Amino acid sequence: MQQPVRAYIGIGSNLDHPATQVRRAFAALNAIPACLCVAQSPLYRTAPVGGPPNQPDYINAVAALDTALAPEALLTALQAIETVQGRVRTAPWGPRTLDLDLLLYGEFTRADSWLTLPHPRLHQRAFVLYPLHDIAPTLTIPGRGQLSECLAQCPPLTMARLDSRN
Ligand code: AMP
Repeated sequence: MQQPVRAYIGIGSNLDHPATQVRRAFAALNAIPACLCVAQSPLYRTAPVGGPPNQPDYINAVAALDTALAPEALLTALQAIETVQGRVRTAPWGPRTLDLDLLLYGEFTRADSWLTLPHPRLHQRAFVLYPLHDIAPTLTIPGRGQLSECLAQCPPLTMARLDSRN
């Protein structure tokens, strides 16, 4: 087994009690074999980006994992969690109970349709950049530069940070 690598997971839900789905996802990430969840961002309520009209708002967050899994095995584990939490694939960017994106896997890069790292839209998405910055403010995104620079260039998005009671 390899040395642990710090990976970051983007979490989103806009169906079936989204904040509960996100909190369940934090627990499920920590339960993946050879993974330890070392940080959880606050939860954010965000307006949908793309996809069909009139979707409910999303709840988004980011988790940091120390993992001894290879990136491909980690993505497979993320997809299994989406399935357990009732993810049904409908329209692209359509509503979902749970979306888990592998945002970063250390400094590893790869580009094919099954797995692209860093995640191809990470640097453009306020709903990812804000929670990621909360837990890793000095992060560098391979090929994109400082996270804080990406955040500064990202158009502001209507979003609200939830407190722990929401
Ligand atoms: P989504 O609708 O966001 O769940 O898209 C999932 C699809 O994107 C799957 O076919 C994955 O294999 C692919 N994919 C490519 N790169 C990534 C990544 N970094 N994280 C998650 N899914 C990815």
